[in-house]
Amino acid sequence: DDVENRLFQNRYVVDTGKPHIHVTPHETPSEELKAMVHVCPAGCYSQNEHGQVEIVADGCMECGTCRVVCQNTGEIEWNYPRGGFGVLFKFG
Ligand code: SF4
Repeated sequence: DDVENRLFQNRYVVDTGKPHIHVTPHETPSEELKAMVHVCPAGCYSQNEHGQVEIVADGCMECGTCRVVCQNTGEIEWNYPRGGFGVLFKFG
């Protein structure tokens, strides 16, 4: 899905009404999910006092990194933003 990944790199979609990325409930996060705390360029991921990883997707830049990194762990649920909703612009 090269085209899809390129689109995600070039768009910034704001959809605060419906967070499009969810972390599924877990006891212990995978190494991939834990890494997102440091890897997410928008700082959306954090680890709580129990060691579980949480996401606040408000500042998400749709870079797609978490989706790629955790694609095999099943811990991240990615929903595409509603069509026509949000602000789209290119940066860079
Ligand atoms: Fe962070 Fe990118 Fe995932 Fe958004 S898509 S939560 S900016 S890693």
